[in-house]
Amino acid sequence: MSHRRRRTSSLARIVTTLAVAAASTLLTAGPSVAAGSGRAVAVPGPEAAVTAHLHDRGQQRTGAAAPAGRPVVKVTREAGAWAHGTAVLATEPGADRMPEGWLFIAHREKGSWQVAFDGEQRFAELSARSTLTRAAEKPLFADQDGRQPAARTDGITPLAGSDFRTGMALPWATGQTWAMTSGPHGWGGTEAPWSSADFAGGDQAVRAARGGTAYTMCTGWVRVIHDRGYSTDYYHLWSNISANGTAVGAGAFLGNTGTDVTCGGAAYGRHVHFGLRQNSAYVGLAGHGLGKWVVENGGAAYQGSALHGSVRVGAGGNLYNYGALGLNQGVIDANGGGSVNRRTGPGTGYAVSGSVADGATVTVSCSANGTSHTGRYGTTSLWNRLSDGTWVSDAYMWTGVNGAINGSC
Ligand SMILES: [Zn+2]
Repeated sequence: MSHRRRRTSSLARIVTTLAVAAASTLLTAGPSVAAGSGRAVAVPGPEAAVTAHLHDRGQQRTGAAAPAGRPVVKVTREAGAWAHGTAVLATEPGADRMPEGWLFIAHREKGSWQVAFDGEQRFAELSARSTLTRAAEKPLFADQDGRQPAARTDGITPLAGSDFRTGMALPWATGQTWAMTSGPHGWGGTEAPWSSADFAGGDQAVRAARGGTAYTMCTGWVRVIHDRGYSTDYYHLWSNISANGTAVGAGAFLGNTGTDVTCGGAAYGRHVHFGLRQNSAYVGLAGHGLGKWVVENGGAAYQGSALHGSVRVGAGGNLYNYGALGLNQGVIDANGGGSVNRRTGPGTGYAVSGSVADGATVTVSCSANGTSHTGRYGTTSLWNRLSDGTWVSDAYMWTGVNGAINGSC
């Protein structure tokens, strides 16, 4: 509903090409002064090198000779041989394509700037060496190099390819109810992966789904880099924050829902176009948890639904933001029932010790095998011991992982 598909005319392509050529010339012509050299030596700034890198990335993506968009390069920190900033391939306001963007780090080596974008292997290496990388950024950037997150320090064991835990709330204040105006769709429209969803409602204040470091990519567009390789995008914002590696807590204000399309794309009615990324690439929302809801794809882009326990809400419906599900927590899913029995041990041979309601949040201490049961997602013999010592079958709990989330008992 936010984006419309339309063919780019050949005239538009020519105009874009000319605009890129003009921008490159201007940027190359603008010298900057080397900082900390003790004498004023004019050397070219990093903008031209970043713009060239952006051009290459755009061509890689489209495979076309024409550039994939209008470069918007912002150097936000520069000192000595280092520069950090944002690089965006913007499209025209109202166009069918959305902008794409990266964080960059540039390093001047033997008089020329070497550039890496987040998601490129060199980015993690440069971020570790750069004097401009902030303490809060170092561990997050190390996770954004396109590989699976390395050994974790939080005691949680990642299961490659099957871990859908985000530790994220929905992108507004916990306790508010907003509409999911559109279900899973592509960042740019109908293309895969369906990484994005549209939300509006409540006080219209868009907030960080999880803590991290925030960057203003473009007018109306904020990106937050999180731990575990995740990042989130928020677009079409009005009065958004101006951030440049700013540490933000979970629920930090980022901007208001709006219809901003300064950097391209279309927005029909105010909302936030929320996108999920992992290892510096858009990743399908489906199966991931946000605000204790599990996002589900529909038969077509912009449809779909979200599930909390056994309650399913379709696109256009209202979602209450329950806040973030902890990485060692689950949401009880009675698969249509009202509650699930707790047991004194891992199986139905153990005594019943009360029950827990559909949709309730539980904290898992550890897991063990027991009697086999079939829930919404299939059959499992895994049981989870809860923080109060009682046990519930993993068949009746959404955790985001097909397996133990907090070790074996
Ligand atoms: Zn959207």
